[in-house]
Amino acid sequence: MDMANENELYQAKLRSCLMCEDDFESAWSGERVCKRCKSQAQWQTGNSSLAA
Ligand SMILES: [Zn+2]
Repeated sequence: MDMANENELYQAKLRSCLMCEDDFESAWSGERVCKRCKSQAQWQTGNSSLAA
């Protein structure tokens, strides 16, 4: 059964943000950037689309 692996993959735990290296609560193993950096990235995306 692979359920244990899946549970671990999607387990929320503290990880280091790839951008600011702060510890943050990651919802799953693929989430590597904290909410603050994510919101900054979204702001940049929105800003560039406004500028274009
Ligand atoms: Zn961050």
